[in-house]
Order: sequence, then structure tokens, then C-alpha cells
Amino acid sequence: MERVFNFAPGPSALPLSVLERAQQEMTCCSGSGMSVMEMSHRSPAYQQIYDNAVARLRELMHIPEEYAVLFMHGGATLEFAAVPLNLTRNGRADYIDSGNFAHVAAVEAQKYTNPVIVASSREDNYAYIPDWRGKLSPDADYVHITTNNTIYGTRYVELPDTGSVPLVADMSSNILSEPYDVTRFGAIYAGVQKNIGPSGAAVLIVRRDLLGHAAPVCPKLLDWALQDKNGSMINTPNTWAIYLCGLCLEWLQEQGGVEAIEKVNIEKAKLLYDYLDESRLFRPTAQKEFRSRMNVTFVTGDAELDAQFVKEAKAAGLVNLKGHRSVGGMRASIYNAMPFEGVQALVTFMKRFEAAR
Ligand SMILES: *Cc1c(COP(=O)(O)O)cnc(C)c1O
Repeated sequence: MERVFNFAPGPSALPLSVLERAQQEMTCCSGSGMSVMEMSHRSPAYQQIYDNAVARLRELMHIPEEYAVLFMHGGATLEFAAVPLNLTRNGRADYIDSGNFAHVAAVEAQKYTNPVIVASSREDNYAYIPDWRGKLSPDADYVHITTNNTIYGTRYVELPDTGSVPLVADMSSNILSEPYDVTRFGAIYAGVQKNIGPSGAAVLIVRRDLLGHAAPVCPKLLDWALQDKNGSMINTPNTWAIYLCGLCLEWLQEQGGVEAIEKVNIEKAKLLYDYLDESRLFRPTAQKEFRSRMNVTFVTGDAELDAQFVKEAKAAGLVNLKGHRSVGGMRASIYNAMPFEGVQALVTFMKRFEAAR
């Protein structure tokens, strides 16, 4: 069977060359005579794989020395708990509620701190990023944002200025898709299965002066300072996921890095949105100003027609286009690994589908 264009929101498409290389190295990884899955996580061979992944992420995001870079267990969702467990001091945290994951992060934080939802677009089905200006407290331990809203297809165009309060970002669905100035943030975390690698791990980038204040009840695996001291290896890490992340990061460097892939991402999104804006059948759901470059949400307005579209697209090798149930319709997730040709194929198919109505 031929490979399809996979528009899944996560886990998502990986670069073919990465999968082929992993296949080649499956039974004998970097001259070790064994698969990475069979290696001791304490072995020099594995240590090199880990160090390589961290170094590449540092290079790609220009992460300064005063930030720790860690691989954590449990994806982004476990970091929803880790954030308040590591950063609570006064007991107030500001959350900007820009989507389902942003909301779930605030609900999880309630167990450990007092999360205040300072701005929300929930009542408008998260079609835009709510305005936080003038609403942030100088006494908050941190301000939490979600830079790209995977389900609703929106993106922060501008970052909040939080003064001396650390800005914490869930970047799961747009990390490495556009340059960010890491020094604007106290902490950045991302589940890796969207733009970095396979599922089951998270990357964490945290300013070192914020480390060392974990709550007494914080599980040791979620204690950022302890993980930093132990090189993300308090216990056995997800070695396979971290290995694949390293390969994907190397691939991204071969593409010219974040600055180069951003240009491609802008072109991909433009192709799709330009067509959606002129189409008489399809309509984009996110407000224009806040459109995501990673997750493009759209509807026909007729649920049956949406289902028919998803079905016919699948038959044409364009898969996983069904939208999340809270938005309905369709969502095309076009992360870094989705080639321009994939979006071209989608737009060509959509035009044909529209012409046949
Ligand atoms: C997918 C996603 C999550 C959840 O990630 P897991 O790794 O499954 O926990 C959290 N936040 C955002 C923005 C996401 O896109």
C-alpha cells in the first residue's frame, strides 16, 4: 500500500526519511549491535542519543544556557499538574482560556493552586484568542497560555507581556513551527507527538532560577529540579520516543531549521486559507486574525456533507480530516512533517469536491 497524506492532529505524520532511517537502525543502532529499545538507558550509546536530541533542540530554538532542557514522561497533560506543583509560591496563577487544552490545564491546576481564568473565549466556542490586556495580576506565580489551540485552529499572534511574572506556555501543537524568543518565557512544554516525534513524552524548557521550589507532595518524576539534576533519568525514560525525536530534530535542521520551516508553514497555511476564503462550499471557523498555521478548521455547514467529504477524501488518500466533535466539520493538521505537496493535494481535492456539488 502507498503512504497517505495524514492530516491527523496527534499523533501525526512523521517525515518519511526519519521513519526509513529508524527502520534501518531498528536492529542495530549506531554500531551497538542492538536496537535502541534494547539498550540500557545508562549506557554511553544511549547517553549520546539523549544528549544529541537535547543539543539539537537547543540549537533549533536558540535556547540559552540559563534554561534547562528536559524530556518528561506523560505528554503535555502531566505537565498540566507539574506546572503548579513546581511553580506555586503565593498560590495564585493566571490562566488564559483559549481552548479545550487551556481549560483542562486550569482545571488540573485547581488541585494544587488557585488558577484564575483571567480571559476566556469559551462562550464563543474558542473562535479567537481572548484579550488578556489589563487583566493579569502582578501577584500571580505565573501566567499560563496555550500558544496554538489544536482543536479550534487558533494561534497567539502576540505574547502577553507579563513583566516579572513568569510566562508558561503549552506549545504542544506549534513548537518548532515558528521562531519564539525563549527568553520571553519562564517555562515552555510540549507533548512531542505533534511537531517533534512519537507520543508518550514531553519536552520541557525551563529557566533555571525557577527550579527548586517543588511542592512537598510533588511526585519526584514531576519535580523539574530533580529531573534536571538527573538528566531526565530519575527512572527509565521513553528511550524510543527520545531517539525518534532526535532523528526528527536532525531532519528539521536539514530543512534549514525553524526559520526556514516557518516560511514553508506560512505558504502551506496560505494556500489552504486562500482557497477557503474564496470557496462557496467551505467556510473556515477560526477568526481570521488568529488563524493557526498548524490546524486549519473548516465546515460546509451541513454535517452530512462534511461526513461525505471526509469519506471521499479518505478514499483519495487524504486521511484523518474529521474535525474534533466540539467544532464539527473538518480539521487539516499541517505540522512541519506535512509536505507542501500534501496541502496542494488537499486543495485540489477540495476544489474538485466543490465543483461536483
Ligand atoms: C495534544 C495537546 C495536549 C495533550 O497532549 P498529551 O501529550 O496527549 O498529553 C495538550 N495541549 C495541547 C495544546 C495539545 O495540542
